[in-house]
Amino acid sequence: MKKIAIVFAAALCLASCGQKETQSSAAPSPQDFPYMVEQFADLGILRYRVPDFENLTADQKALVYYLTEAALWGRDILFDQNCKYNLQVRRTCEALYLNYKGDKTSAEWLGFETYLKRVWFSNGIHHHYSEDKILPECSQEWFAQACKEANVEIPEGLLRVMFCPDYLAKKVNTETGKDLCLTSACNYYENVTQAEAEAYYEAHKDNSPEPMWIGLNSKLTKDAEGNVIERVFKAEEGGLYSAALQKVVENLQKALPYAENEQQRLVIEKLIEFNITGNLKTFNEYAIAWVRDLDSRVDFVNGFTEVYGDPLGITGAWESLVNFKNMAATERTKALSDNAQWFEDHSPIDQRFKKAECKGVSAKVITAAILAGDCYPATPIGINLPNANWIRKSYGSKSVTIENLTEAYNQASLGNGFNEEFMLSDVERECAKKYGAHMSDVHVDLHECLGHGSGQMLPGVSKDALKEHGSTIEETRADLFSLYYMADSKLVELGIAPDMEAYKSQYYHQMMNGAMTQLVRIEYGKNVEESHMRNRALISNWVLAHATPGAPEAEIVERDGKHYMQVNDYEGLRRLFGELLAIIQEVVSTGDYARACQLVDAYAVKVDPQLHREMLDRYEPLHIAPYKGFVNPIYTPVFDKEGKIIDVRLDYTEGYAEQHLRYSRDYSNLPTINE
Ligand code: ZN
Repeated sequence: MKKIAIVFAAALCLASCGQKETQSSAAPSPQDFPYMVEQFADLGILRYRVPDFENLTADQKALVYYLTEAALWGRDILFDQNCKYNLQVRRTCEALYLNYKGDKTSAEWLGFETYLKRVWFSNGIHHHYSEDKILPECSQEWFAQACKEANVEIPEGLLRVMFCPDYLAKKVNTETGKDLCLTSACNYYENVTQAEAEAYYEAHKDNSPEPMWIGLNSKLTKDAEGNVIERVFKAEEGGLYSAALQKVVENLQKALPYAENEQQRLVIEKLIEFNITGNLKTFNEYAIAWVRDLDSRVDFVNGFTEVYGDPLGITGAWESLVNFKNMAATERTKALSDNAQWFEDHSPIDQRFKKAECKGVSAKVITAAILAGDCYPATPIGINLPNANWIRKSYGSKSVTIENLTEAYNQASLGNGFNEEFMLSDVERECAKKYGAHMSDVHVDLHECLGHGSGQMLPGVSKDALKEHGSTIEETRADLFSLYYMADSKLVELGIAPDMEAYKSQYYHQMMNGAMTQLVRIEYGKNVEESHMRNRALISNWVLAHATPGAPEAEIVERDGKHYMQVNDYEGLRRLFGELLAIIQEVVSTGDYARACQLVDAYAVKVDPQLHREMLDRYEPLHIAPYKGFVNPIYTPVFDKEGKIIDVRLDYTEGYAEQHLRYSRDYSNLPTINE
């Protein structure tokens, strides 16, 4: 199905396609808008529209403009967080790219060019999804010679960083039994073992009722005496990444006069203060102010946010997303959040794990105006923040789906032949065609607006109890909550689902994707690694393993030597999703790490090599890039004589390499190695 092509980044949760009927303006066809930019390696680059931008007020446009500037200045931070040598690789390769005078049609040059494009895409030298090191498709000899000819200096050790497959092999290692800090190439721990890091966090843990998220914005390293120390990411002197954060602060200060209201002004002020001092108490104040800002049309995320890039799940990767509310589509999610308590009360989980009072589950559909840091070029299509559980519990959370991005995915992938190859029959294909786009938006809404916010931990259970499996289990929980309710007549009653057939499109997709077709995104011989993919595998494989013997609700069948997912009993499938939800909720609520390990090991990680081979062989001839990302539009402000912004022009014409080279030229001020 189309959504297989969708990329899931850090905060991203579900696959989805655009829901045209709620769009404020109809999406143009691929003939009328150039959604597709280019394709290389396993990546497709798309362009997204920013519909309705022209209808914002001049002040709202100015606010968007300065927030997008603040967003773009964080790019270098993420490169450095992903691996200590990423900026070195990027800058050396860009210098060669710009200065090479030799043959640009040779296989070596083209291999090098693809490598650089992949490094831009991944914000570093590791695949954004598999987290394995990307090896250049040019030879080391060619690269060294080309640099020499172009007068580009190769820093000491760089060739090993780029070309040696065993060195810095994995960005985030989650293999049980290994020292996750020492074996991960990401830059959150330097010369610090996992035991030392865990001991440090344990000793510095904030046990107050409103705890600071210790470690969110810092790197652990050692001082001259060998003591573990924290290097805080902050703009003020002595901070790591201070030069970039100063530019972020500068642009947030410029955005401030254009704030839409007092609450939003407070949000920006607190974020400025936090970026300067790195004080996590200020971060909490900022997060609370942000959750409370529900009236502004323009909104944004900017800073150290998702922790998937840290093997211990503590430190946030830098990201930014600037957006504004899609008024029409927001009505749909409001219907869900208004009924949050009903969904909580009727959930098939143990009473002890239910929230007595479901607070402030706000939800809106947004239009992205810029993607940056960990949201770029691969991006989430749904976000639910903040991540601190106590803030979510006391103040609620904000949940969004990003409809102009799902629109671009959907429009760009029309008729790519995927459903024809992998779905069992026309029955499933027709169901997907009729309901797939709308219901996968609903899937995102349920997952984000209700799923993550549902349920509660038993007193005394730590949010880190599930350790390296925390993300996988949490995503499984949110997906199951969504799947369970998708088949509920309540959705029809609320006018969200059109009828009691619609959910079947998502049930079939979950079963097919989780057990079979998502394997096309994994290199042959590798296991399932990424937490959202693990979550989908866990659900499908658990259901297949627990299907009724002799009369399975779902099964993998063979037709003419090819394997397909066959669903025999959709209502039975719902019952199984409910049973698994009850189990997963218990694991989360009680912090049952052993059970989490057992579930993940049994259902989420391992790949049947024969099935994997078959999926890859059937997928390959379709020539679909399994991962997608975006180029951003360019925003150009128009000033009056007093220097006030009176308009902002929007331009969609920039290419992929062009954009990255411009960002590296205009928004890059960090040292190549940050210490
Ligand atoms: Zn999620």
